[in-house]
Amino acid sequence: MKEELIFCPLGGSGEIGMNMNLFAYGNPDNRKWIIVDIGVTFADDAIPGVDLIYPDPGFIVDKKDDLLGIVLTHAHEDHIGAIAHIWPKLKCKIFATPFTSVLISEKFKEKKIDVTGYLEVVQLNSIVDLSPFKIEFVTLTHSILEPNGLKIETPVGNILHTGDWKCDPDPLTGDNMNSKRLKEIGEEGVLTMICDSTNVFSAGRAGSELDVRKNMLKIMERLKKRHPDVFVERGDAVIFSSKIIPGNEKKLYKLHNQLVREGIEVISEDSEFIHVSGHPNREDLKDMYDWIKPRSVIPVHGEHRHMIEHINFAKEMQVPYPVRVENGDIVRIYPGDKPEVYDKAPSGRLYVDGSISVEEDAQSIKERKNLSTNGLIEATLVITPNGNIHNKPLLTFRGLPIYEKDEFTFNLEEEIEKTAKTFSLNNKKQESNLIDALKITCRKYTKEKLGKRPYTNINLVRI
Ligand SMILES: [Zn+2]
Ligand SMILES: [Zn+2]
Repeated sequence: MKEELIFCPLGGSGEIGMNMNLFAYGNPDNRKWIIVDIGVTFADDAIPGVDLIYPDPGFIVDKKDDLLGIVLTHAHEDHIGAIAHIWPKLKCKIFATPFTSVLISEKFKEKKIDVTGYLEVVQLNSIVDLSPFKIEFVTLTHSILEPNGLKIETPVGNILHTGDWKCDPDPLTGDNMNSKRLKEIGEEGVLTMICDSTNVFSAGRAGSELDVRKNMLKIMERLKKRHPDVFVERGDAVIFSSKIIPGNEKKLYKLHNQLVREGIEVISEDSEFIHVSGHPNREDLKDMYDWIKPRSVIPVHGEHRHMIEHINFAKEMQVPYPVRVENGDIVRIYPGDKPEVYDKAPSGRLYVDGSISVEEDAQSIKERKNLSTNGLIEATLVITPNGNIHNKPLLTFRGLPIYEKDEFTFNLEEEIEKTAKTFSLNNKKQESNLIDALKITCRKYTKEKLGKRPYTNINLVRI
């Protein structure tokens, strides 16, 4: 059987966030795997009580005996945020540069997980030998210390995985981009470039952190000077030196509105030059394409619209084989004339619910969504030994728009009693039918009176 080189994104392809990419080499019976990045994404209001989401790692957990390690490109949450959630299922080596290592160590400490002997600190611009892979960290520039692109060398050719990057001639923190090495890698030959798609719609260049600093200092000069303080009040100014991530507009503009109502000046990207993106605009991408001259490109780190536009961009740049992927796609990079998606790995999302990770269709999530939109009715019936209801059913309501509570309660008690009477209550075999019938009665009555179908819970207590 022939040796194959495989790429498979489990997260971050078709969405911005929770990046997790797999590479494999070997014949189909004996493949060795590596994971590049293992990030989270942030939940919105649609999932009550959940803040963090990460890729379902099941596919690679099944192959953990053939997993050589996790390699981290940089320390942003969408690249490292899930490591302490997923690593305990893999217990493999972790490779990261010094700054990223410090941040992930904190995540493990928080969860009281000991990774001594597993975490290997990699120096900038050095090579990790993970045979059959040889992984070279190449310093790039982005919006954090120590962003690395990875040259992944295999027996059949090289891959360049860019990670997050832009061309910043004055990065302010950290080293300059190692474009000299990127050009050399291009000359050595690159089968496939896996590349950041975030800003593919933006013309020109992403710009430098230095230009932002210059303008920020100018703004500071015209503002009234105070010692830094946690309180803001009339006459103060708040600078939002960041981009609003799609989906967060509502929350952010609500905050802006609260501030301006209080007489506080809001300085944001809308009004002043106070932020540059950390991702490559089209001119930055052109540089990378010119240096690397890849045979094929696989756009990642983007929503579908970004990734389709990135495919068009790659065609414009004369790349022979741009390949469109989404989470779970298994791409055969080698052998073959061109890379192609030939299979699908199970992929999905896990929600961090309290201290437990649950699947997207978990009962706890379904119930909370139901409770949050429909409210709750709970009815408790005390049943005597001769099969009667003791006193009245005990009713509890939560989250229902009931104005005439006494009347609503009285009538619902009657409805419940009417339904209960159609059963012989001391016949335990009828219990589940009785509970179902009572649920229907409660929901039907509430729908009729309030237009709501609440989550309904029936308790039977036998004395
Ligand atoms: Zn990043
Ligand atoms: Zn990222």
